[in-house]
Order: sequence, then structure tokens, then C-alpha cells
Amino acid sequence: MPELPEVETTRRGIAPHLEGQRVSRVVVRERRLRWPIPDDLDVRLSGQRIVLVERRAKYLLINAEVGTLISHLGMSGNLRLVEVGMPAAKHEHVDIELESGLALRYTDPRRFGAMLWSQDPHNHALLLRLGPEPLTDLFDGERLFQLSRGRSMAVKPFVMDNAVVVGVGNIYATEALFAAGIDPRREAGGISRARYLKLAIEIKRILAAAIERGGTTLRDFIGGDGQPGYFQQELFVYGRAGEACKVCGTELRNVVLGQRASVFCPKCQR
Ligand SMILES: [Zn+2]
Repeated sequence: MPELPEVETTRRGIAPHLEGQRVSRVVVRERRLRWPIPDDLDVRLSGQRIVLVERRAKYLLINAEVGTLISHLGMSGNLRLVEVGMPAAKHEHVDIELESGLALRYTDPRRFGAMLWSQDPHNHALLLRLGPEPLTDLFDGERLFQLSRGRSMAVKPFVMDNAVVVGVGNIYATEALFAAGIDPRREAGGISRARYLKLAIEIKRILAAAIERGGTTLRDFIGGDGQPGYFQQELFVYGRAGEACKVCGTELRNVVLGQRASVFCPKCQR
């Protein structure tokens, strides 16, 4: 599943080819994504210039002069640039053709993604209640500490809650809790301010490192497969249950929290 760093890498890969370009035509071969692609998307977008490509949480906002295309990659989606007229293979559902001769092509085998139209994207129902972006000053350990008071849920699903902070998926929550030395099963409301300050720093560090590594994949967005994939960063615990902790050698354990696998080191994390 594309996580925040992959979506940000996609934004950086496609934005230079979209911004300032006029849309000549939108070709939709399959409307049935998580929600149907609006019937009038071609009418609304064609002839407009794309002004700015933004990201909010895992949504890409392709802002035109009037209105915004909100796109989500779902479980298996990707966006890349192809030459206009390049034959479409299976699962290549949408082309947004530009006057430059390139087209933004959306591919999504599982069709859990989305392409919606909005006049006011930041107030769209999908975006309205999202917490702050993790790499901004609006997110810090003090926020984690304050929002967690009185909460009995485990700390891992707490930091993965989009209302607390967006973009902390399972990989990043698992790795950041390890780096901060916090047992993922701990009650969110019982963790000290000092430990939350450390956790927020680790979340920012690990996400920023993943985005930086994604920068090396940018050339793949033209003619490539549009899949930045999971960046080859060193994983200390995620996906390593039963293996030895890289720090202390203890066997890593797995526990299910909020329906998600949660690997941790019983010695390094308390
Ligand atoms: Zn350990």
C-alpha cells in the first residue's frame, strides 16, 4: 500500500510535468474505483490549466484554475506520465492528456483508489477531519502528550489515528516506536511527555528519511512504472518477527494491535 512517503514522491515526480500545463482531454476507461469517477470530469477539467499539485495526508490535490481533482492511490494505485496515445494495458483506467503531449496515467489493479472533483478540497468530507501533517510544526510530542491524556488505547493505534497525525502507517509507527524505545502495547494515556517528545522526533526523522530516499526514484515517473515502491531503508523491526533484534539480539515478537501486526523488541521497548 502506498504510504505517505510514496505519495509525496509521486507528487514530486509528477508536479513538474503538470504545473502550468493545460489539460486537453480526460479519458476514463473504468469509472468504478472506490467511488465512481464523476461522469463530468472530462468536461470540468479539459481546457483548464493545472496550477499546483499538492499533497494532504495520502491525497494528491491537482488544483486547476477552477476546481481540484482529489486523487488517492488506494491499495495498489500509481500515477505516471506517458506519451499521449500510448496504448493502455489492463488496469490503466484514466489518462489526463496535456497539451505538452504527455498524459498523466492512473493505474490501479485493485481499484480501491479514488479520483474525485471538488471546488473546495480542504473542506471535502475526506479531508476535513484530518490531523496535522507529520513534517510540519503543527505536529509535535506535546500534541501527542495532550491528545493522549485519558486514552486507554494502545500507543501504536493512537499514533496511527489520522485525527492525531496523518501519514503514520504501520511501517512508520512500528519503526518509530522501536527507535523511541516504547512498547507498542503501552496505554497511550500512561506515557510521559518526555517519551512523546522523543517519539515525535523519531516519526519525523523516519518519514523524512523515506521521502529523501524516494527522491532517487523520480526519473521513473516518465515512461517507468510509476512505482516508487518501498524505499530501501533499513527496517529494524517491521516484518522481522521471530528474527533477532539488530540492537540487542533478543527475538522480536509480534502482537496484533488495532488489527495490525506490531513487531517489537521486548527488551529495547518498554
Ligand atoms: Zn532489542
